[in-house]
Amino acid sequence: MVVYQYRCAGHGVLEVHRPIGTATDREPCPDCAAPAPRVFTAPQLSFGSVRNRALLDRTERTADDPAVVSALPSRRTAPRAATNPALARLPRP
Ligand SMILES: [Zn+2]
Repeated sequence: MVVYQYRCAGHGVLEVHRPIGTATDREPCPDCAAPAPRVFTAPQLSFGSVRNRALLDRTERTADDPAVVSALPSRRTAPRAATNPALARLPRP
């Protein structure tokens, strides 16, 4: 949803929430029903938290410049035995 602003001559700015691209040139004022012309303002971009913004940035970046794998991943090393001394006393198979 997007907030579109209209300005009534008698009652000032009114805001209307609509889906993107569905704005009309004029909107009836809720107080006097006069057609209020649309006011164009700077977009209020907000994507929420910093994590959401970082996710959107990564998504856009990979769409334009996807990561390319040029070599096989290195072999995994065998998992090391537990180093906890309490576990060393447990019976082994
Ligand atoms: Zn009005």
